[in-house]
Amino acid sequence: MSFSVSFPGIDCISRLFSSRQVKVGVLRLDQVHPVVSGNKWFKLRYYLEAALTGKKKTLVTKGGAWSNHIVATAYAAAASGLNSTGIIRGEEPAQLSSTLQQAEKAGMQLVFTSRTDFAQLSPASLLPENMNLEDCYFVNEGGYGIAGAEGMCTALEGIRLQEYSHLICAAGTGTMTAGLLKAALPGQTVITIPVLKGYTGLEAAIRNLLTTEENKKIFSVIDGYHEGGYAKKSEPLLNFMNEFYNETGIPSDFVYTGKLFRAVTDLLNKNYFPPGSSLLIIHSGGLQGNRSLPKGKLIFG
Ligand SMILES: *Cc1c(COP(=O)(O)O)cnc(C)c1O
Repeated sequence: MSFSVSFPGIDCISRLFSSRQVKVGVLRLDQVHPVVSGNKWFKLRYYLEAALTGKKKTLVTKGGAWSNHIVATAYAAAASGLNSTGIIRGEEPAQLSSTLQQAEKAGMQLVFTSRTDFAQLSPASLLPENMNLEDCYFVNEGGYGIAGAEGMCTALEGIRLQEYSHLICAAGTGTMTAGLLKAALPGQTVITIPVLKGYTGLEAAIRNLLTTEENKKIFSVIDGYHEGGYAKKSEPLLNFMNEFYNETGIPSDFVYTGKLFRAVTDLLNKNYFPPGSSLLIIHSGGLQGNRSLPKGKLIFG
């Protein structure tokens, strides 16, 4: 496969929280690839392998106009010699989002679908009639699935996991969280911060991807940091992201990682973590989605 990602580094930001007596590291998955950033390549890798092994020609998946998963799929499929089709939520707009422009440039065929059809119909039934379903390999929205979680697990290869008491990430579908739980060592706690509002099925969705043994690991969903819902952004969130960048040099996105860093900062300030804890926060990328914001809202590009 003509595709590779660079090894992620860990930035230590403990000094921001020096009075809390905890160590805080940020795993920079946002830096592994310029387009297929963050968790997306790791979640996709075994689906790509399965598609190639099954001699499929086209990877089919679905997502919104600013979806990190759509652009990552377009790029990773092309780099693997596969075609890709993205079923997109909503009618075709006059002007494509930069995400969809990038996906199209990588060769993805975009199929625009009304919101109702998108929610209710199977991906196969939404494809153009001339497409041969036998040639298609279907990947769930957001890469949800066991193969996605197992791929995510490989993002932690080569990291000295035993140095951490807590592994912390944001959750959309929960696939990344399930990957962290698969990788977690005995005694380690996995914490996940939901970015959707009222997704009561999240914990079950995560647990469905785990074995009985993995389900015994220590795990908390900490809700209340979604800022009103998926992709909702408040001025305080954007201000926080700017301040966090000023203090750490780490850019974040307003859909996932901005909420994640804000949540962890709040939990630290409330002394949620016992002294001596050592946190590994997963920066899962997604910075391209910030292009949907009006210019000037963020001090980093
Ligand atoms: C997709 C995405 C997530 C959510 O991952 P899930 O596995 O769906 O929970 C988190 N952060 C970023 C930046 C993402 O793009």
